[in-house]
Amino acid sequence: MCRCCSAPMPIGGHWKCGCSEDVLTITGVLQIGKPDSKIVSGTKKSCALHNLPLETLDPDAMRRRFPVFSLDDDEVALLDPQGGYLRPEVAVMGHLKLAASDGAALHFGEKVTAIEPGDHGVTIVSDTGRYTAGKVIVATGSWIGELVPALRDHAVPIKQVVSWYQPTDGFVTMPQRMPVFIRDEGENGSFFGFPAIGVDGVKVGRHAHFREPIDPNQSNPVVNDKDTDLLDSFIRRRLPAAAGLRVRSTTCRYTMLPSEDFLLDLLPNDKRIVVASPCSGHGFKFTSVVGEILADLALEGGTALPISAFSFAAMDRFLAARAA
Ligand SMILES: Cc1cc2nc3c(=O)[nH]c(=O)nc-3n(C[C@H](O)[C@H](O)[C@H](O)COP(=O)(O)OP(=O)(O)OC[C@H]3O[C@@H](n4cnc5c(N)ncnc54)[C@H](O)[C@@H]3O)c2cc1C
Repeated sequence: MCRCCSAPMPIGGHWKCGCSEDVLTITGVLQIGKPDSKIVSGTKKSCALHNLPLETLDPDAMRRRFPVFSLDDDEVALLDPQGGYLRPEVAVMGHLKLAASDGAALHFGEKVTAIEPGDHGVTIVSDTGRYTAGKVIVATGSWIGELVPALRDHAVPIKQVVSWYQPTDGFVTMPQRMPVFIRDEGENGSFFGFPAIGVDGVKVGRHAHFREPIDPNQSNPVVNDKDTDLLDSFIRRRLPAAAGLRVRSTTCRYTMLPSEDFLLDLLPNDKRIVVASPCSGHGFKFTSVVGEILADLALEGGTALPISAFSFAAMDRFLAARAA
């Protein structure tokens, strides 16, 4: 139900933030693939574990309910009716407003150049000043390796590309008829997509794209033919009614850790510094709970939430197992 007015939220409903802007639109989320694929079997296990509603649809049911999707005979789709898409800019602005109203001082356009632990606190050095604090949280996305040497070789920014297409059938690609989806294509990776929101049309991408490392201090590399061929061929095969004119493509970045998961931990050699790399391409939806975890780590030195898989020790174990 809506947090503001307590109204029930059907598919296509909106979630409003305190300033009455839409943050979340509920479309449902479809996880598509073979029954034993990582995404389908993992989603089933996770929903059972956490007692979440889930509906299984075979190819016939998909043709009737969500005709934009083309499934192979041996594939299924799992519908999570509570899923949807966030508007990240509105969500970030909402968090900034809440932080400011709670007394946070927000500094924009000020680059942190060093973190200096000292006897009387940790000093943040920026291009315009120095600030000493009892605790520091470092969450600098693609640049985290510059401030946290332990992540320099392991938090790797890679090129991610997404494209938007004008549907040939506008009806079946509306948010009310086309849930957000993730599609497991086996060895070909997993693709994700969104219904036609606004004028740009249907958006698709492949998780981690071609895994090409990039330098976050350079402009993002331009989109090339290999990038667009990958996404054009996917949309033609799997979402034929959405495969009209490609109107836009853009490059953004994932920051990948070796396990392709998060790192949320205290720095092993200085427990006053909290490190957060909640990315590997799937961190945004967890913003609120990651914030709670980071506050716990900074204020209490630990958290009751189960984050052992996101520790430096877990990363070291993963690297050791991979090297063995
Ligand atoms: C195309 C694409 C699609 C995605 N889709 C999804 C999705 O469907 N679901 C999902 O959950 N996640 C998704 N993600 C991932 C999500 O965007 C990230 O997980 C999330 O933004 C990571 O948050 P962060 O705070 O770690 O880093 P960021 O959001 O990158 O924030 C880091 C901030 O630190 C600042 N900064 C860096 N260095 C310094 C410095 N030296 N001094 C001062 N400030 C600094 C940066 O300017 C930036 O503002 C997607 C990402 C991409 C690129």
